[in-house]
Amino acid sequence: MVKYALNCQSCQSEFEAWFSNSDAFDDQKERGLLSCPECGGSEIVKQIMAPAVSGTKKREVSQSPTVPLVQPGADLAKMMKAVREHIASTHEYVGADFAQKARAMHDGEIEEKPLWGEASMDEARSLIEDGVSALPLPEPFAPPKPVDQKKLN
Ligand SMILES: [Zn+2]
Repeated sequence: MVKYALNCQSCQSEFEAWFSNSDAFDDQKERGLLSCPECGGSEIVKQIMAPAVSGTKKREVSQSPTVPLVQPGADLAKMMKAVREHIASTHEYVGADFAQKARAMHDGEIEEKPLWGEASMDEARSLIEDGVSALPLPEPFAPPKPVDQKKLN
């Protein structure tokens, strides 16, 4: 038996299901036998993760992109804190305006200064492709977001 974490493309709900082997998922999907327990949709995909397999391992399922991982020790925690404090004290937080502002700086439309903020994956990818100065900021290195003054007023 193989357990897969599944994802409904229609309503994005996540659920798990057991299959007799790793081919059974594809087989049942092809025959339209899979449906979402939430919305009944049939666009079901496997989540990107290794399945829990009991019995003989048939073949590797996951070909998902890898992400770097590290076990954080006390030293690393201290360094991450230093990075967060450095960014918070030297970079202006621009929130969701990051992509637009970074691009305007790149194009020489506004004065250059260090920024940090958020962008969608698509925006981030296009910034990097266009050579705009931007680097993915992993969560542990991201300072807490400053309180948005506009929202308070
Ligand atoms: Zn659904």
